[in-house]
Amino acid sequence: MRNPELSINYLLNIYQSRLMGLLPSFDWHPCDAHSPKWWGGLEDPEEVAITAVLVQQTRWENVKEAYKNLRAARLNSFAAIKESDLSSIRKCIRSVGMHSEKSKKLKELADAVIRAGGWRHFINRDTKEVRTELLRLNGIGYETADSILLFAGNHLIFPASRLVTRILERLGFKVPKSYEALRKFIESELSKDLFSYKLFYASSLVITKVACRSLKPDCLRCPISDACYTSAYRQASNIP
Ligand code: SF4
Repeated sequence: MRNPELSINYLLNIYQSRLMGLLPSFDWHPCDAHSPKWWGGLEDPEEVAITAVLVQQTRWENVKEAYKNLRAARLNSFAAIKESDLSSIRKCIRSVGMHSEKSKKLKELADAVIRAGGWRHFINRDTKEVRTELLRLNGIGYETADSILLFAGNHLIFPASRLVTRILERLGFKVPKSYEALRKFIESELSKDLFSYKLFYASSLVITKVACRSLKPDCLRCPISDACYTSAYRQASNIP
């Protein structure tokens, strides 16, 4: 059973007081709420969007190698990707796996961006409109679309990752199962500002890396264990 004091915003306060210093080691960079740097320290929102596509089902370290190659080949903008052939993109992003599929996704996204008149015209529209367009593109799912909207476009929408679900369930929250229902649940509880959305997402992902792994959570190393129902249960039951 969840600690009755624990709400999404209470958890956000815990994240803010305990995780801000840890996030940069995992390439999340809390800073000005509108800055693209939150996402891997990248300064260009187009690179944030490109890497959000690349990071699907792979590690961030592999993505870093891919975007260094894209930069070196001057393929780190949608205008350049639109003009490029698929094999050049594929060559740069080999490290991320499924590079054929991902290079096609990047081309499709680049086509949509250029059709709209460039990145700013594409992203600076009504959230629902951009989101619908992103979700229509081949291979861009909800979490990728919402990550692009939040971190590359500063739209107030929460990427409701299954990793966030894992933590909330272990803390004792009853969370909806579907992506959209979970997103709406978090958005209804979380302070409505970009800083809070970005911090909550980044902190949740970092906790799953340092401690809250899928099979064997390491509650003794977890920075939020004192607030966690599962941790209390495991201790009371002598589960290592
Ligand atoms: S205390 Fe354990 S179960 Fe709870 S969030 Fe941390 S690692 Fe996960």
